[in-house]
Amino acid sequence: MEIAIIAHDGKKADMVQFLNEHSDILNKKNITLISTGTTGEKVMKAGFKVDALLSGPLGGDAQIAARVAEGKCHMVLFFRDPLDKHPHEPDILMLMRLCDVHNVPLATNAATAELLIRAV
Ligand code: PGA
Repeated sequence: MEIAIIAHDGKKADMVQFLNEHSDILNKKNITLISTGTTGEKVMKAGFKVDALLSGPLGGDAQIAARVAEGKCHMVLFFRDPLDKHPHEPDILMLMRLCDVHNVPLATNAATAELLIRAV
């Protein structure tokens, strides 16, 4: 099962805390983590194995959206910061739309990420 982790800058600390709280699940052999670039650096620093794609503003969200469309990514945990502006908002909307098109579970905040990860 491939799980994508994305965190906007204002939510990266919350994302790392989330990973640490759920390391038992996230370190399971059947789970592969992918992420956007800068998020991936934090995920690695926290001690997890992750396939980091491009940074979000450079196309990382679009790469994850493509994997969702291709049926390769099975869950998206997106720690969004709704109080900040993002130059790649169109890519973010595309990712969320494609999750809905392909019925892929998508969390857009920590509370939902918590519920989804418990279901894994
Ligand atoms: P980042 O991208 O992990 O490269 O910061 C996240 C995003 O803003 O989509």
